[in-house]
Amino acid sequence: MILEAIPKAAFSVLAGSNLLKRLASRYGMRRPGSFARRFIAGESVAEAIEAARQIEAQGLLVTLDLLGESVATSDDAAAATRAYLDAIAAIEQAGVGRNISLKLTQLGLDVDKATCIDNLRRIMNAATTGGFFVRIDMENSPYTDLTIEILEVVWNIGHRNVGTVIQSYLKRSARDIDHLNSMGVRVRLVKGAYREPADVAYQQKADVDAAYIELMRVLLRAGTYPAIATHDPKMIEATTTFAAEHQISKDKFEFQMLYGIRRDLQTSLAREGHPFRVYVPFGKEWFPYFMRRLGERPANVGFIVRSLIREK
Ligand SMILES: Cc1cc2nc3c(=O)[nH]c(=O)nc-3n(C[C@H](O)[C@H](O)[C@H](O)COP(=O)(O)OP(=O)(O)OC[C@H]3O[C@@H](n4cnc5c(N)ncnc54)[C@H](O)[C@@H]3O)c2cc1C
Repeated sequence: MILEAIPKAAFSVLAGSNLLKRLASRYGMRRPGSFARRFIAGESVAEAIEAARQIEAQGLLVTLDLLGESVATSDDAAAATRAYLDAIAAIEQAGVGRNISLKLTQLGLDVDKATCIDNLRRIMNAATTGGFFVRIDMENSPYTDLTIEILEVVWNIGHRNVGTVIQSYLKRSARDIDHLNSMGVRVRLVKGAYREPADVAYQQKADVDAAYIELMRVLLRAGTYPAIATHDPKMIEATTTFAAEHQISKDKFEFQMLYGIRRDLQTSLAREGHPFRVYVPFGKEWFPYFMRRLGERPANVGFIVRSLIREK
Protein backbone atom coordinates (compact mmCIF):
# COMPACT_ATOMS: atom_id res chain seq x y z
CA MET A 1 0.00 0.00 0.00
CA ILE A 2 1.56 3.25 -1.15
CA LEU A 3 0.35 5.23 1.89
CA GLU A 4 2.36 2.97 4.18
CA ALA A 5 5.52 4.34 2.54
CA ILE A 6 4.91 7.85 3.94
CA PRO A 7 7.47 8.25 6.73
CA LYS A 8 6.36 9.12 10.26
CA ALA A 9 8.66 12.16 9.96
CA ALA A 10 6.41 13.62 7.25
CA PHE A 11 3.49 13.68 9.66
CA SER A 12 5.49 15.40 12.34
CA VAL A 13 6.46 18.11 9.81
CA LEU A 14 2.82 18.46 8.67
CA ALA A 15 1.73 18.66 12.30
CA GLY A 16 3.56 22.02 12.42
CA SER A 17 1.57 23.46 9.50
CA ASN A 18 -0.85 26.18 10.53
CA LEU A 19 -2.74 25.98 7.25
CA LEU A 20 -3.34 22.26 7.65
CA LYS A 21 -4.34 22.81 11.26
CA ARG A 22 -6.89 25.44 10.25
CA LEU A 23 -8.33 23.24 7.51
CA ALA A 24 -8.48 20.16 9.72
CA SER A 25 -10.02 22.15 12.57
CA ARG A 26 -12.73 23.40 10.25
CA TYR A 27 -13.68 20.03 8.78
CA GLY A 28 -12.42 17.40 11.21
CA MET A 29 -15.15 17.48 13.86
CA ARG A 30 -17.99 19.49 12.34
CA ARG A 31 -20.48 16.63 11.91
CA PRO A 32 -21.11 13.34 13.69
CA GLY A 33 -19.34 11.43 10.89
CA SER A 34 -16.44 13.87 10.36
CA PHE A 35 -13.01 12.24 10.05
CA ALA A 36 -11.39 13.28 13.33
CA ARG A 37 -14.27 11.79 15.31
CA ARG A 38 -12.91 8.36 14.57
CA PHE A 39 -10.05 9.09 17.03
CA ILE A 40 -11.38 11.97 19.16
CA ALA A 41 -14.49 11.61 21.28
CA GLY A 42 -15.59 15.24 20.86
CA GLU A 43 -14.59 18.78 21.66
CA SER A 44 -16.51 19.03 24.95
CA VAL A 45 -16.34 17.09 28.20
CA ALA A 46 -20.03 16.25 27.76
CA GLU A 47 -19.24 14.44 24.49
CA ALA A 48 -16.33 12.61 26.14
CA ILE A 49 -18.59 11.50 29.00
CA GLU A 50 -21.16 10.24 26.52
CA ALA A 51 -18.41 8.25 24.73
CA ALA A 52 -17.21 6.94 28.09
CA ARG A 53 -20.73 5.73 28.93
CA GLN A 54 -20.93 3.81 25.68
CA ILE A 55 -17.50 2.26 26.24
CA GLU A 56 -18.34 1.28 29.81
CA ALA A 57 -21.61 -0.27 28.64
CA GLN A 58 -19.45 -2.78 26.75
CA GLY A 59 -17.62 -3.76 29.92
CA LEU A 60 -14.51 -1.64 29.26
CA LEU A 61 -12.84 0.94 31.51
CA VAL A 62 -11.88 4.48 30.47
CA THR A 63 -9.32 7.18 31.03
CA LEU A 64 -10.31 10.64 29.83
CA ASP A 65 -7.71 12.93 28.32
CA LEU A 66 -8.34 16.62 27.74
CA LEU A 67 -6.18 17.21 24.69
CA GLY A 68 -3.58 19.95 24.77
CA GLU A 69 0.20 20.25 24.90
CA SER A 70 3.09 22.66 24.53
CA VAL A 71 1.30 25.67 26.02
CA ALA A 72 3.50 28.76 25.87
CA THR A 73 2.10 31.08 28.57
CA SER A 74 1.19 30.73 32.22
CA ASP A 75 -2.32 32.02 31.38
CA ASP A 76 -2.84 29.13 28.96
CA ALA A 77 -1.47 26.67 31.51
CA ALA A 78 -3.85 28.06 34.14
CA ALA A 79 -6.75 27.76 31.68
CA ALA A 80 -5.84 24.12 30.98
CA THR A 81 -5.68 23.46 34.73
CA ARG A 82 -9.12 25.00 35.24
CA ALA A 83 -10.45 22.93 32.37
CA TYR A 84 -9.10 19.77 34.05
CA LEU A 85 -10.69 20.74 37.37
CA ASP A 86 -14.01 21.29 35.56
CA ALA A 87 -13.61 17.93 33.82
CA ILE A 88 -12.98 16.22 37.16
CA ALA A 89 -16.18 17.75 38.54
CA ALA A 90 -18.17 16.75 35.44
CA ILE A 91 -16.85 13.18 35.56
CA GLU A 92 -17.79 12.90 39.24
CA GLN A 93 -21.26 14.15 38.52
CA ALA A 94 -21.74 11.86 35.53
CA GLY A 95 -20.61 8.79 37.44
CA VAL A 96 -18.24 7.45 34.77
CA GLY A 97 -14.79 6.03 35.56
CA ARG A 98 -12.61 8.32 37.67
CA ASN A 99 -9.42 8.12 35.69
CA ILE A 100 -7.70 10.92 33.74
CA SER A 101 -4.56 11.31 31.65
CA LEU A 102 -2.70 14.60 31.18
CA LYS A 103 0.47 16.09 29.73
CA LEU A 104 2.85 18.28 31.69
CA THR A 105 3.53 20.69 28.80
CA GLN A 106 -0.21 21.37 28.90
CA LEU A 107 0.19 22.50 32.51
CA GLY A 108 3.04 24.88 31.72
CA LEU A 109 6.24 22.80 31.75
CA ASP A 110 7.64 24.94 28.91
CA VAL A 111 6.79 28.11 30.84
CA ASP A 112 8.55 27.06 34.01
CA LYS A 113 8.76 24.01 36.23
CA ALA A 114 7.30 25.67 39.32
CA THR A 115 4.15 26.76 37.46
CA CYS A 116 3.68 23.26 36.12
CA ILE A 117 4.13 21.65 39.54
CA ASP A 118 1.69 24.12 41.06
CA ASN A 119 -0.93 23.32 38.44
CA LEU A 120 -0.40 19.59 38.79
CA ARG A 121 -0.75 19.85 42.57
CA ARG A 122 -4.11 21.57 42.18
CA ILE A 123 -5.31 18.79 39.89
CA MET A 124 -3.90 16.10 42.17
CA ASN A 125 -5.66 17.58 45.20
CA ALA A 126 -9.03 17.45 43.43
CA ALA A 127 -8.25 14.01 42.02
CA THR A 128 -7.27 12.55 45.37
CA THR A 129 -10.37 13.96 47.06
CA GLY A 130 -12.54 12.50 44.30
CA GLY A 131 -10.81 9.11 44.22
CA PHE A 132 -9.36 9.54 40.73
CA PHE A 133 -6.27 7.94 39.22
CA VAL A 134 -4.08 10.38 37.27
CA ARG A 135 -1.77 9.21 34.52
CA ILE A 136 0.96 11.60 33.44
CA ASP A 137 1.48 10.90 29.75
CA MET A 138 5.05 10.79 28.50
CA GLU A 139 6.04 13.34 25.87
CA ASN A 140 9.23 13.47 23.80
CA SER A 141 12.66 12.72 25.24
CA PRO A 142 13.63 16.26 26.39
CA TYR A 143 10.79 15.83 28.93
CA THR A 144 11.52 12.31 30.21
CA ASP A 145 13.65 13.29 33.22
CA LEU A 146 11.40 16.23 34.07
CA THR A 147 8.26 14.10 33.91
CA ILE A 148 9.68 11.50 36.29
CA GLU A 149 11.02 14.23 38.58
CA ILE A 150 7.64 15.99 38.77
CA LEU A 151 5.80 12.72 39.30
CA GLU A 152 8.11 12.13 42.26
CA VAL A 153 7.27 15.57 43.67
CA VAL A 154 3.55 14.78 43.87
CA TRP A 155 4.24 11.19 44.95
CA ASN A 156 6.38 12.42 47.83
CA ILE A 157 3.67 14.82 48.94
CA GLY A 158 1.62 11.68 49.45
CA HIS A 159 -0.42 11.28 46.26
CA ARG A 160 -0.27 7.57 45.45
CA ASN A 161 -2.99 7.73 42.82
CA VAL A 162 -0.57 8.88 40.15
CA GLY A 163 1.40 6.99 37.53
CA THR A 164 3.27 7.65 34.32
CA VAL A 165 4.22 6.18 30.97
CA ILE A 166 7.40 4.53 29.74
CA GLN A 167 8.27 4.20 26.04
CA SER A 168 10.02 1.05 24.83
CA TYR A 169 11.74 2.91 21.97
CA LEU A 170 13.91 4.82 24.46
CA LYS A 171 17.17 3.10 25.28
CA ARG A 172 17.02 4.36 28.89
CA SER A 173 13.66 2.78 29.69
CA ALA A 174 14.85 -0.35 31.55
CA ARG A 175 16.51 1.92 34.13
CA ASP A 176 13.43 4.12 34.45
CA ILE A 177 11.21 1.10 34.97
CA ASP A 178 13.49 -0.28 37.67
CA HIS A 179 13.37 3.08 39.42
CA LEU A 180 9.57 3.44 39.18
CA ASN A 181 9.06 -0.19 40.23
CA SER A 182 11.22 0.38 43.30
CA MET A 183 8.89 3.24 44.29
CA GLY A 184 5.76 1.22 43.50
CA VAL A 185 4.57 3.64 40.80
CA ARG A 186 2.15 2.26 38.23
CA VAL A 187 3.58 2.32 34.71
CA ARG A 188 1.79 2.37 31.39
CA LEU A 189 4.07 0.73 28.83
CA VAL A 190 3.89 2.05 25.24
CA LYS A 191 6.16 1.84 22.21
CA GLY A 192 6.44 5.64 21.91
CA ALA A 193 4.77 8.10 19.57
CA TYR A 194 7.36 10.82 18.83
CA ARG A 195 10.19 11.13 16.34
CA GLU A 196 13.37 10.60 18.34
CA PRO A 197 17.07 10.67 17.39
CA ALA A 198 19.10 7.46 17.12
CA ASP A 199 21.31 8.26 20.10
CA VAL A 200 18.35 8.02 22.48
CA ALA A 201 15.86 5.73 20.73
CA TYR A 202 15.78 2.52 18.73
CA GLN A 203 14.93 3.25 15.10
CA GLN A 204 13.97 -0.25 13.96
CA LYS A 205 10.52 -1.63 14.74
CA ALA A 206 12.05 -5.02 15.60
CA ASP A 207 14.22 -3.42 18.32
CA VAL A 208 11.31 -1.40 19.74
CA ASP A 209 9.16 -4.54 19.84
CA ALA A 210 11.89 -6.65 21.47
CA ALA A 211 12.37 -3.96 24.13
CA TYR A 212 8.61 -3.80 24.65
CA ILE A 213 8.44 -7.51 25.40
CA GLU A 214 11.42 -7.35 27.74
CA LEU A 215 10.00 -4.37 29.67
CA MET A 216 6.52 -5.92 29.80
CA ARG A 217 8.04 -8.97 31.51
CA VAL A 218 9.86 -6.82 34.07
CA LEU A 219 6.64 -4.93 34.82
CA LEU A 220 4.47 -8.01 35.13
CA ARG A 221 7.00 -9.66 37.44
CA ALA A 222 7.18 -6.54 39.63
CA GLY A 223 3.43 -6.68 40.21
CA THR A 224 2.75 -2.94 40.33
CA TYR A 225 -0.42 -3.22 38.22
CA PRO A 226 1.12 -2.10 34.91
CA ALA A 227 -0.90 -1.05 31.89
CA ILE A 228 0.13 -2.80 28.70
CA ALA A 229 -0.87 -0.18 26.15
CA THR A 230 -0.58 -1.36 22.56
CA HIS A 231 -2.68 -2.31 19.55
CA ASP A 232 -0.10 -4.83 18.43
CA PRO A 233 -1.48 -8.40 18.58
CA LYS A 234 2.10 -9.74 18.93
CA MET A 235 2.69 -7.69 22.09
CA ILE A 236 -0.67 -8.76 23.48
CA GLU A 237 0.02 -12.41 22.76
CA ALA A 238 3.47 -12.14 24.38
CA THR A 239 1.82 -10.62 27.47
CA THR A 240 -0.92 -13.22 27.89
CA THR A 241 1.59 -16.04 27.31
CA PHE A 242 4.05 -14.65 29.86
CA ALA A 243 1.28 -14.09 32.41
CA ALA A 244 -0.01 -17.65 31.97
CA GLU A 245 3.49 -19.17 32.21
CA HIS A 246 4.20 -17.28 35.45
CA GLN A 247 0.75 -17.70 37.04
CA ILE A 248 0.17 -13.95 36.97
CA SER A 249 -3.58 -13.55 37.12
CA LYS A 250 -5.52 -11.29 34.78
CA ASP A 251 -6.39 -8.80 37.51
CA LYS A 252 -2.70 -7.99 38.11
CA PHE A 253 -2.37 -5.83 34.98
CA GLU A 254 -4.57 -4.16 32.40
CA PHE A 255 -4.53 -3.68 28.68
CA GLN A 256 -5.10 -0.25 27.19
CA MET A 257 -5.80 1.03 23.69
CA LEU A 258 -6.65 4.36 22.12
CA TYR A 259 -10.21 5.39 21.33
CA GLY A 260 -11.23 4.26 17.84
CA ILE A 261 -8.31 1.90 17.21
CA ARG A 262 -8.72 -1.90 17.01
CA ARG A 263 -12.17 -1.83 18.60
CA ASP A 264 -12.50 -5.53 17.71
CA LEU A 265 -9.52 -6.42 19.89
CA GLN A 266 -10.68 -4.12 22.69
CA THR A 267 -13.94 -5.96 23.18
CA SER A 268 -12.52 -9.44 22.62
CA LEU A 269 -9.83 -8.95 25.30
CA ALA A 270 -12.43 -7.63 27.76
CA ARG A 271 -14.63 -10.63 27.00
CA GLU A 272 -11.73 -12.91 27.85
CA GLY A 273 -11.72 -11.32 31.32
CA HIS A 274 -8.83 -8.88 30.98
CA PRO A 275 -9.29 -5.47 32.62
CA PHE A 276 -9.30 -3.23 29.58
CA ARG A 277 -9.09 0.56 29.48
CA VAL A 278 -9.79 2.85 26.54
CA TYR A 279 -7.96 6.17 26.35
CA VAL A 280 -10.66 8.69 25.44
CA PRO A 281 -9.23 11.97 24.11
CA PHE A 282 -11.40 15.05 23.82
CA GLY A 283 -11.11 18.82 23.50
CA LYS A 284 -10.49 21.48 20.91
CA GLU A 285 -6.70 21.01 20.76
CA TRP A 286 -6.86 17.68 18.97
CA PHE A 287 -4.68 18.36 15.93
CA PRO A 288 -1.19 17.22 17.17
CA TYR A 289 -2.70 14.06 18.72
CA PHE A 290 -4.56 13.36 15.51
CA MET A 291 -1.39 13.79 13.41
CA ARG A 292 0.50 11.32 15.61
CA ARG A 293 -2.24 8.74 14.96
CA LEU A 294 -1.88 9.27 11.22
CA GLY A 295 1.89 8.94 11.46
CA GLU A 296 1.52 5.55 13.14
CA ARG A 297 -0.63 4.23 10.35
CA PRO A 298 -0.52 6.28 7.15
CA ALA A 299 -3.32 4.10 5.73
CA ASN A 300 -5.56 6.24 7.99
CA VAL A 301 -5.07 9.02 5.45
CA GLY A 302 -7.14 6.95 3.01
CA PHE A 303 -9.86 6.73 5.63
CA ILE A 304 -9.89 10.54 5.97
CA VAL A 305 -10.04 11.12 2.23
CA ARG A 306 -12.97 8.70 1.97
CA SER A 307 -14.84 10.47 4.81
CA LEU A 308 -14.26 13.87 3.19
CA ILE A 309 -15.60 12.61 -0.14
CA ARG A 310 -18.64 11.14 1.61
CA GLU A 311 -19.30 14.45 3.40
CA LYS A 312 -19.40 16.51 0.21
C1 LIG B 1 -3.61 3.92 26.02
C2 LIG B 1 -2.43 4.47 25.30
C3 LIG B 1 -1.74 5.55 25.82
C4 LIG B 1 -0.63 6.07 25.17
N1 LIG B 1 0.11 7.05 25.78
C5 LIG B 1 1.28 7.44 25.20
C6 LIG B 1 2.16 8.35 25.85
O1 LIG B 1 1.89 8.82 26.96
N2 LIG B 1 3.32 8.69 25.22
C7 LIG B 1 3.67 8.16 24.00
O2 LIG B 1 4.74 8.48 23.48
N3 LIG B 1 2.84 7.32 23.36
C8 LIG B 1 1.67 6.95 23.92
N4 LIG B 1 0.86 6.05 23.27
C9 LIG B 1 1.12 5.74 21.83
C10 LIG B 1 2.13 4.64 21.64
O3 LIG B 1 3.40 5.08 22.01
C11 LIG B 1 2.17 4.18 20.17
O4 LIG B 1 2.55 5.26 19.36
C12 LIG B 1 0.87 3.63 19.65
O5 LIG B 1 0.20 2.89 20.60
C13 LIG B 1 1.12 2.72 18.41
O6 LIG B 1 1.92 1.63 18.79
P1 LIG B 1 1.37 0.14 18.96
O7 LIG B 1 1.89 -0.39 20.25
O8 LIG B 1 -0.08 0.12 18.81
O9 LIG B 1 2.13 -0.69 17.85
P2 LIG B 1 2.39 -0.48 16.30
O10 LIG B 1 3.49 -1.42 15.96
O11 LIG B 1 2.55 0.96 15.96
O12 LIG B 1 1.03 -0.96 15.66
C14 LIG B 1 0.58 -2.29 15.74
C15 LIG B 1 -0.75 -2.41 15.01
O13 LIG B 1 -1.73 -1.64 15.71
C16 LIG B 1 -2.62 -0.97 14.81
N5 LIG B 1 -2.44 0.48 14.95
C17 LIG B 1 -1.47 1.14 15.62
N6 LIG B 1 -1.63 2.45 15.56
C18 LIG B 1 -2.74 2.67 14.81
C19 LIG B 1 -3.42 3.84 14.39
N7 LIG B 1 -3.02 5.06 14.71
N8 LIG B 1 -4.54 3.68 13.62
C20 LIG B 1 -4.98 2.44 13.29
N9 LIG B 1 -4.37 1.30 13.67
C21 LIG B 1 -3.27 1.40 14.42
C22 LIG B 1 -2.24 -1.46 13.45
O14 LIG B 1 -3.00 -2.59 13.16
C23 LIG B 1 -0.77 -1.83 13.62
O15 LIG B 1 -0.34 -2.76 12.67
C24 LIG B 1 -0.23 5.51 23.92
C25 LIG B 1 -0.90 4.41 23.40
C26 LIG B 1 -1.98 3.88 24.07
C27 LIG B 1 -2.65 2.68 23.49
